[in-house]
Amino acid sequence: MSAEAAVKIVTEHSPEEIARVKEWINTEEYKEKNFAREALVVNPAHACQPLGAQMVATGFAGALPFIHGSQGCASYFRSTFSRHFREPAAATCDAMTEDGAVFGGQNNLFEGLENAYALYKPKMIPVFTTCMPEVIGDDLTAFIKNAKLQGHLPEEVPTPYANTPSFNGSHIHGYDSMLKSILETLTEGKSIEGKCTGKLNLIPGFDGNTGNLREYKRILELFGIPYTLMADISEVFDTVCDGTYRLYPGGTKLEDAAESVNGKVTIALQKYSTTTTMKWIEETYTGEKVTIPMPFGIKKTDAFLMKLSELFGKPIPEKLKEERGLAVDALTDAHQYLHGKKFALAGDPDYLIGLVSFLLEMGAIPYHILCSRTTKKFEKEMKALLATSPFGAQGKVYINKDLWHMRSLLVTDPVDGIIGDTHAKWAARDARIPLFRIGFPIIDRVNLHRNPVVGYQGAVNILTMIANKFLDIKDETCEDQWFEMMR
Ligand code: SF4
Repeated sequence: MSAEAAVKIVTEHSPEEIARVKEWINTEEYKEKNFAREALVVNPAHACQPLGAQMVATGFAGALPFIHGSQGCASYFRSTFSRHFREPAAATCDAMTEDGAVFGGQNNLFEGLENAYALYKPKMIPVFTTCMPEVIGDDLTAFIKNAKLQGHLPEEVPTPYANTPSFNGSHIHGYDSMLKSILETLTEGKSIEGKCTGKLNLIPGFDGNTGNLREYKRILELFGIPYTLMADISEVFDTVCDGTYRLYPGGTKLEDAAESVNGKVTIALQKYSTTTTMKWIEETYTGEKVTIPMPFGIKKTDAFLMKLSELFGKPIPEKLKEERGLAVDALTDAHQYLHGKKFALAGDPDYLIGLVSFLLEMGAIPYHILCSRTTKKFEKEMKALLATSPFGAQGKVYINKDLWHMRSLLVTDPVDGIIGDTHAKWAARDARIPLFRIGFPIIDRVNLHRNPVVGYQGAVNILTMIANKFLDIKDETCEDQWFEMMR
């Protein structure tokens, strides 16, 4: 395709004018105007609520995520998951169109549920909404009740539902609402006084890294702690290729989720994506409930393991002690490649807390930290974390700003690299700095979702990715006399 055919020119500008604007958007003057922007968002570092709800729904065995809303939204969620994980993302939708928007989407929902059940025989149908039914005020509670009363869906099929309007919150809030609703539905009537399964309920939070979930499971197996990993997408979005298509390839068993209410301990590893779920669990579940940060880096992994040890009265396994030693050795051997380097970061609040903590451990400088939809509470927590280290002194936190704001920061106050998902690649390219792809979605590189970034192994993985990229850049850009065998 020719360049002319690929880009439809809407307005004509002289090459001089284009060059002038190209320069101008790199100035402090433009940055000021960019930061004064209020009514427009450009390239935000977050997705919409239903996408998070779909991730949760996918993580339960035999569950078919059901989107009440428009087909285009459903395609966006499915294609984002498919591009990130390079796996099919099974979900269905009742494809509301103009008549649904005018008369309400109840009939769409009836027909959709009936077809979905007849065709795919799911064990559970978690329902969540897109913007359209939220704008017109569809009453999901009544619609789902009516669907069962009128025989469109058997009464016994669990049908948790969540309102996930995208003009509020982001994918992490959709994750939270859907998870709470699924657990509420499955655990109803299951709480038995005095009963304890002895198990850990582990809630990973919104995490597009299947390697992280596998790492959690491996750690728990080394400890010998029985567990239920909630919304476990690791087998669903990272499946074997053996010539057989499985519509429901894995996920948390519904019986295990139902029994979770009688668990010994519930741990959430993300605070910001599990707020309402944990609040409800606090009031409903027996056993201890704890929310701790994701185990990024040595310190936070230590804290996670010590918490497990304390709660289950088990010593830290020798294997994990050895892995810690190996990770500390790897980090020490390579710390000079990160020490003093400045980083920009964009992503979800819980990931940002973990990544900043890791950078501080390495003596790197988290410099521009941007979260495109969050609260003052997060800003306060991040500032407190930065204050714990001299390497955090230069860090600035930007909340509810997008990656076009980030671009202005990068070109006016440069850093050595940026950590974020694929959306940050334009800002990175314009600023001529490397992008270290950690987060969701990563749709322009392969297999990164399989490499854990949590735990001791995760710390080594992050370090290796960053240090080697800096060394690549040095080799590619240095003058001949500095091109060395040894780095
Ligand atoms: S923001 Fe709303 S309209 Fe857009 S994809 Fe998400 S749910 Fe659909």
